[in-house]
Amino acid sequence: MVTEVIEARVGADGTLDLVRLVLGGRCRAVLKVTRPAALTIQLRRWGYEGEVGAELVEAQLPGTAYRVVEVREKAREAVNIEEAEVVVGVGRGFRRKEDLKMAEELASLLGGVVGCTRPIAADYGWLSEDRWIGISGKRIRPRLYIAIGISGAPQHMAAAMDSKVIVAVNKDKNAPIFQYADYGVVADLYQFVPVLIERLKRRLGRA
Ligand SMILES: Cc1cc2nc3c(=O)[nH]c(=O)nc-3n(C[C@H](O)[C@H](O)[C@H](O)COP(=O)(O)OP(=O)(O)OC[C@H]3O[C@@H](n4cnc5c(N)ncnc54)[C@H](O)[C@@H]3O)c2cc1C
Repeated sequence: MVTEVIEARVGADGTLDLVRLVLGGRCRAVLKVTRPAALTIQLRRWGYEGEVGAELVEAQLPGTAYRVVEVREKAREAVNIEEAEVVVGVGRGFRRKEDLKMAEELASLLGGVVGCTRPIAADYGWLSEDRWIGISGKRIRPRLYIAIGISGAPQHMAAAMDSKVIVAVNKDKNAPIFQYADYGVVADLYQFVPVLIERLKRRLGRA
C-alpha cells in the first residue's frame, strides 16, 4: 500500500514506479512495486478539483475473516482552507480554545479563514481536521499566511511554503518559522494580536 503518490509510471520491466514525498516533503522517494498495487494519490497534484467520494468495498481474502462493525461519516466543516486567499494559522502558542476567537476575528477582518497545526486538531480537538495544515493535513497556497504561535516544523511548513507572503508571530526569536517568514514578529501573541486587531479595525473603519 503506497500513500500520497504524486507521480506514477510503468517501468520498462512492467513494474510501477511511484513517487511520493518523504522527510517532511523535502525529498522525493521512488518506489518500485509489482502490480496489482494499492495506492492513494494527492488529488490536487493530479489536477482533480471536484468532490471526492469513497466507497466501501467488501473483499474477502482467502484465510482471513472480518466484519464491518460500523461506518461513520466524517465530520466536515464548510471551510476550504486550500482555496483561501488569506489563512491565519494557529499553533500551540495558544493556551486555551477560547483564545482562538482572536485568530477568528483577525481572519474575518482580513476576509480569510483559520487553519491550524496538527496538535490543535489532532491532540486538542479544538478545530476540525479540515483546518489542519501539513503533510498529513491540507496544503495551502494563499496570498497571505499569518502563522501565530506556530514553531514551523517541516511537516507543517511543507504544506504552507507555497504561500505568497508568510508572516510569523512567535515569542521565541529562534523558532524555525522565522526561516520561512517574509515578515517576523517576535512577540507574545497575547499582547500583539489584540493590538493588530484594533489597528486593523481602525484602518477598515470598523472600530
Ligand atoms: C509523521 C508526522 C507528520 C506530521 N504532520 C504534521 C502536519 O501535517 N501538520 C502539522 O502542523 N504538524 C505535523 N506534525 C507535527 C509537527 O512535527 C509539529 O509537532 C507540530 O507542527 C508543532 O505544532 P505547533 O507549532 O502548534 O506547536 P509547537 O512546536 O509546540 O510550537 C508552539 C510555538 O508557539 C510559540 N509560543 C508559545 N507561546 C507563545 C505566545 N504566548 N506567543 C507567541 N508564541 C508563542 C513557541 O515559541 C513555539 O514556537 C507531524 C509530525 C510527524 C512526526
